[in-house]
Amino acid sequence: PLADIGVTGLAVMGSNLARNFARNGFVTAVHNRSYAKTKALIDEHGGDGVFVPSESAADFVASLAKPRKILIMVKAGEPTDAVIEELAALVEPDDIIIDGGNAKFADTRRRQAALAERGIHFVGCGVSGGEEGALNGPSIMPGGSAKSYESLGPILERISAHVDGAPCCTHIGTDGAGHFVKMVHNGIEYADMQLIAEAYDLLRRGAGLSPARIGQIFGEWNKGDLDSFLIEITAQVLSQVDAETGAPFVDVVVDAAGMKGTGTWTVQTALDLGIPVSGIAEAVFARGLSSAAAHRAAAAGVLPGPDGTWPIADVDAFVEDVRIALYASKIVAYAQGLDEIFAGAAEYGWDINVGAVARIWRGGCIIRAKFLNRITEAYDVSTGIELPASLLLAPYFTDAIANAQDSWRRVVAGAATAGLPTPGFAAALSYYDGLRSERLPAALIQGQRDFFGAHTYQRVDKPGTFHTLWSGDRTETQTA
Ligand code: NDP
Repeated sequence: PLADIGVTGLAVMGSNLARNFARNGFVTAVHNRSYAKTKALIDEHGGDGVFVPSESAADFVASLAKPRKILIMVKAGEPTDAVIEELAALVEPDDIIIDGGNAKFADTRRRQAALAERGIHFVGCGVSGGEEGALNGPSIMPGGSAKSYESLGPILERISAHVDGAPCCTHIGTDGAGHFVKMVHNGIEYADMQLIAEAYDLLRRGAGLSPARIGQIFGEWNKGDLDSFLIEITAQVLSQVDAETGAPFVDVVVDAAGMKGTGTWTVQTALDLGIPVSGIAEAVFARGLSSAAAHRAAAAGVLPGPDGTWPIADVDAFVEDVRIALYASKIVAYAQGLDEIFAGAAEYGWDINVGAVARIWRGGCIIRAKFLNRITEAYDVSTGIELPASLLLAPYFTDAIANAQDSWRRVVAGAATAGLPTPGFAAALSYYDGLRSERLPAALIQGQRDFFGAHTYQRVDKPGTFHTLWSGDRTETQTA
């Protein structure tokens, strides 16, 4: 039979997605640059369903039913361009080429435009959930034309994770929208992980609790508002004991966090769009500081300050304060990430339903969490939140932070006094206080800019653009 869908690029992600398609009853064409991976997939997992393997790209394309749907799962960057070029010469107008790799959304926009000229649908598709998700149900964020989603969407929805019966896959928007939203997903993931790490540090160094005990605490937290994949795996990582030394696993691992770039892209893009994603930025910078080995080695024990111990009278109350501070900071990080999505949608003309994005993040992906239901509800028209207002203005989240702020402020102030770094918690709190301030010191900055660069300013009491003759008699002139 002709295949329903094809996958080219059969490393971990591609082979697991191909197996997922086959297990869901789709006839799945498979292809890899070197045939060994294709053969291994068929040898080891051929029983998962109906596969149609091909050695050449031409045979692979010929094995697909029209309109052909071909998912590329190869290394991002130049390899993706090479594979697209090869396939584009073999397919026909109306066929659909899908890139499921972690592409930059700007590359996706470029590729989409080039293929559209040849009548080919190109779909940049974010896939989250790692290997395990690819096999058992990822969260899928397809961009591309609405027309391509008509035939492709039902297949992707079928293999995606499901929560409460709803697929974790929806058409995000045209051209690069899917990869943009996947990028922001990863940025939020960075922020979430950093906030969890800060909470751990407060409990460890501040309260002096053991990793095992903190693991139990995270296990408890996972039953409430914080219920999420990242909290759940944190409990497991903290309870892990190193077999060789008998020490807690977290104590034998080098404290330098790696990264592959999507967090950095999220911040770079936010800077281009002028959107303050301070929680995500602090998370990227904190990984950078952790990996600055020479700087840290030179400074540790030399730069003076408090040693991180905290005079805690009531440990249970402290643990609860940290939990609440984590929740509030996390809400801010999500609010900032969603602001970036609104800004990207406005800049690139995407009609993105942010409530639906939160819905498809409830399962399959790394930031899957119970509280995403609340975000979906917040952007439901019936709640009356005016789009694209900050998530923090949705009544549920306004209340959640109002109730959290005493704990949040105690934790950030106490951490500063004790000398414990909390860049994520503190940045989130500062953002919150900045957002709610009626007047910001930016008026002074406008004065400085006008002083040294004649950059002009506006007045609170009348329209127009003004400049003060700072180096002259300091009178004000109206420039527009
Ligand atoms: P890799 O990123 O390691 O890519 C390996 C695959 O790319 C192999 O099939 C390889 O073929 C193929 N390839 C490399 N260069 C070329 C080329 N010039 N022409 C044709 N094929 C080429 O595989 P992963 O499965 O880890 O990831 C695939 C994509 O999915 C990446 O874009 C990644 O960023 C993304 N992704 C990964 C996730 C993960 O958890 N790993 C999660 C979500 C997305 P060959 O066997 O012949 O060398």
